[in-house]
Amino acid sequence: MKITLYLLNVGHGDSFVLKYEEGNVEKWGIIDCHKPNPNTISPTLQLLIDNNVTNLEFICLTHPDYDHFSGLEEILKYFLEKQSAVFKFYEYGIHQSEITATLSSKRKMNAFKKLYHLMCELSQMNKLECISLSVEHNIFTTDNLTIISLGPYGKDLMNFSKQADRRLQEYELNKMFTEPDKNLLSIVIGIKSQSSNIILCSDATTKNIEYSLQKWRNKFSSNYKFDFIKVSHHGSKTNHHAGLFKDFSNHSKSFAGISAGNHYNLPNKEVVYDIIGQKVLLYSTNYSGDLKNMFSFPENNSILAGIKDYKIEEGLNQVSDLIPSLTPLHGTISFIDDGQNISIQTEYQHDPINTYLKP
Ligand SMILES: [Zn+2]
Repeated sequence: MKITLYLLNVGHGDSFVLKYEEGNVEKWGIIDCHKPNPNTISPTLQLLIDNNVTNLEFICLTHPDYDHFSGLEEILKYFLEKQSAVFKFYEYGIHQSEITATLSSKRKMNAFKKLYHLMCELSQMNKLECISLSVEHNIFTTDNLTIISLGPYGKDLMNFSKQADRRLQEYELNKMFTEPDKNLLSIVIGIKSQSSNIILCSDATTKNIEYSLQKWRNKFSSNYKFDFIKVSHHGSKTNHHAGLFKDFSNHSKSFAGISAGNHYNLPNKEVVYDIIGQKVLLYSTNYSGDLKNMFSFPENNSILAGIKDYKIEEGLNQVSDLIPSLTPLHGTISFIDDGQNISIQTEYQHDPINTYLKP
């Protein structure tokens, strides 16, 4: 068996595509999607088309934020024409009525409503099975691969409901509101194969990650350490869980990936330092704007000492040479587990990242 997990560069946002191969059989699934450029198809759909995929085993939406769900409607429509089997669509909270009412911008709200209505329509036609995830729910399993949801935990869910209630009341009073923190709904996903362990933290809170880690450790007590960690919330400091990075299985062979965020100047440099301080290989899906900040660390940072005069214009490979534990790169990161060995492949994208900005 072989699994390939693609972490796609979608600008500010998340998108994973999972390919599972066993003999001649190929199975595909999607975790989150973002369509950064409204005038072209999403990089996620493009990857599936390039690989002649005609059937999806599952789609999983980690939480109903625009940078994680945009483009899913397009994917559903594309596969509807091709696919005979029922779609399994896993999510947390999409059916909570508060969510539609709490998306702040009209554009996001419309996009969400369109997806939601399409999902309702497809469920009525028995073409889509919408499954609300709970803790330790199987998303996809074979004899040698398990994909499960690990969080969110109860308090995060309660906090979300409280925030949503309060903000809807505010809206009633003065027609103004800010969005509740939908990261509180973020599903943490654990993936276990014969030879690797992966955790995808989506945009989960630090407490949710802690809770999810406990679930994971209890379930796989003798073999729980990770080979690949997708850093939470585009590398933000607020959702950082420092302890997580001590749970790498083998530091010379373990990888972390960040879906960087152009919008909020992420990843946060302290988070990056914390991760590369564990001497693991860190990959980022893009460097546009943000990684420039990663190269201006405080002078007393020993790992980055000597590069403070470095100029980004000189080229990314030179940065990698200077900081072996950091591989700045924008493009697709593929984590590959062929049943015996794990590796990372990266594909540099030459098209300007600017086409992916400002969703
Ligand atoms: Zn996000």
